[in-house]
Amino acid sequence: MKKISILGSTGSIGTQALDVVRKLPDEFKICALAANSNVELFSKQVEEFQPELAVLADEDAYKKFTAKRNFPATQIAGGRQALIDAAGYGDAEIVLTAMSGFAGLEPTINAIGHGKNIALANKETLVVAGEIIINMAKDFNVKILPVDSEHGAIFQCLQGENSADVEKILLTASGGPFRGKTFDELQNVTVNEVLAHPTWNMGKKITVDSASLVNKGLEVIEAHWLYGIDYDKIQVVVHPQSIIHSMVEFRDGSIIAQLAEPDMRLPIQYALTYPRRLQAPINRLNFWQMKDLTFEEPDLKTFRGLKLAYEVGKIGGTLPCVFNAANEVAVNAFLRGQIKFLQIYDVIENALESHAVLKNPAFGVLTMEDSAVRILSEKFIEHL
Ligand code: NDP
Ligand code: MG
Repeated sequence: MKKISILGSTGSIGTQALDVVRKLPDEFKICALAANSNVELFSKQVEEFQPELAVLADEDAYKKFTAKRNFPATQIAGGRQALIDAAGYGDAEIVLTAMSGFAGLEPTINAIGHGKNIALANKETLVVAGEIIINMAKDFNVKILPVDSEHGAIFQCLQGENSADVEKILLTASGGPFRGKTFDELQNVTVNEVLAHPTWNMGKKITVDSASLVNKGLEVIEAHWLYGIDYDKIQVVVHPQSIIHSMVEFRDGSIIAQLAEPDMRLPIQYALTYPRRLQAPINRLNFWQMKDLTFEEPDLKTFRGLKLAYEVGKIGGTLPCVFNAANEVAVNAFLRGQIKFLQIYDVIENALESHAVLKNPAFGVLTMEDSAVRILSEKFIEHL
């Protein structure tokens, strides 16, 4: 049995990962489970999966959790440091990083430092600290196994291939709920409209990012680090049906694609069982019933977050960290009703323009920049 830990178990990826574990009871044993604040769901998960360690990062939630029930088979802990420690805990072979945002970086670093393979859902980690993470993974001889559906697809397309033969990565994008809309049509879109993603059911932050195409931008940077490929060789292709999860074009002109119904349990499972393929409860593609598969060019003028991500990624250093932090603040402000959807780009641009790039930042520098950009962006939003 493979021992795994799941950080962010109460979220969209976390719950689907536990569903994978539930359906393969002879494959996995849960070592540590960690989440932030959802006491109700977390209690049920601890009861069902009986991990060795259970951690809630939010102190108040942790107090409620301890007052609520008694779990004799499980060691429990609370607070941010406990969550970071959980990432390196015990003899877990693989740690699934399914928290959202910058908060996922430090636990991921700790997990790698303890020699754990990483099933990486938390893309912000690679965006902010790609160089640190990739170098650490080499030093500690750990695998970074992508959970993001596009990167999982690319990973599969590259099996058995020589990376020198790769000409291009074709990163597919659904286009989100506003595909084809003009700038004017997006002026007053509501939170509910933004959260109505046409093909994927995900946590709120990534759903907003998908609507703004910032998510695709984050994924371009993620692909750059995961596959060591130049930005000029990563092409975003809008494919509204989300059946092709990404493709790789090789130097002889061949293109290999990975296709499946859009269901995150598939890339999650493959990351956890790699290199094995096991039975999965995924609806199969039926080619007779499938509608057209179509492809479009992304509209970088209206959805300028994607264009910005390419620019930021190419410059590198602390700039992707700034991009990410400003976006996290802007998305939260949008969800609170404080700013309009399109102002997310204004918040990001303001932070980028105010920043002097530092090259090869250490972790401590990134933490400081992240905090500084959060303060700056909150102030900018107050004056919008
Ligand atoms: P959700 O918002 O659904 O879940 C986030 C999880 O992280 C919850 O368990 C939450 O705990 C926990 N969490 C949030 N903040 C903290 C914190 N500060 N410390 C510890 N735990 C925290 O997000 P998703 O599952 O949608 O996304 C998770 C990550 O995976 C993101 O980085 C996203 O970009 C990536 N991803 C997601 C995909 C998807 O289909 N959802 C697809 C590809 C990538 P609690 O609920 O208890 O407060
Ligand atoms: Mg994705």
